[in-house]
Amino acid sequence: MDRKEFLERFIFVRKCGGCGEILPYERSRQAFCSDCERAWLVAKAENCSECLRVVTECTCTPKGLRGVFSLRKLIFYHPKKVKEPQNQMIYRIKHRPNKRISEFVASELSAAVEEEICACGFSERRQDVVIVNLPRGRRAKTLYGFDQSALICRALSEKTGIAYVEAIGRRRGGREQKTLTGARRFVNVKGLFYVRDERAIAGKCILLVDDIVTTGASMSGCVKLLAQAGAKEILAFCIAQD
Ligand SMILES: [Zn+2]
Ligand SMILES: [Zn+2]
Repeated sequence: MDRKEFLERFIFVRKCGGCGEILPYERSRQAFCSDCERAWLVAKAENCSECLRVVTECTCTPKGLRGVFSLRKLIFYHPKKVKEPQNQMIYRIKHRPNKRISEFVASELSAAVEEEICACGFSERRQDVVIVNLPRGRRAKTLYGFDQSALICRALSEKTGIAYVEAIGRRRGGREQKTLTGARRFVNVKGLFYVRDERAIAGKCILLVDDIVTTGASMSGCVKLLAQAGAKEILAFCIAQD
């Protein structure tokens, strides 16, 4: 056993993104233990109740998400199944930065990213494609010290070779979206976001990424701003659609 293996086996042990148990050394580069991986695969095989396609191929958008034709996702989020490994993973990456899990999510999203880029005719013009994150609220960012959507975008950029720009800013104020219901979320996002870097947006194909999309209020707000800033195409992605 070399020093690196020793450290990885006994000191810097890694935990499963689902159940939080310590991973056996052999799985230490994976996101999940074998049980949670099975649960993840089952969640990814769920069918959409609207289009009947498997969730990873579903492009359905929530009613409130305007301005994009499709929203690609990895799983459906069921708030009642909060203890399920796939939901625990989302919870975990919100509360603690985890490069390994972010890379896993990015890698899982990359197939849909390539398909969508190809479908809108940008596969030969990758230099004109830009990844943009939907920024987290300031309070949460200060509380946890990081922005999980930015972390996922960085990993997605590394995986795909597509540039990532923190092109959208978020103003102080506004309530956390999850504390509000329906129509109030749409009022809450008004004026909350702004474009920080218009030159990075104009004429580009934007891959807009968030972790969970519920009503689509935040995403709609950002889509509108991106369109006003001259984005040529806007493609929406998330880990989970509620
Ligand atoms: Zn597990
Ligand atoms: Zn669908």
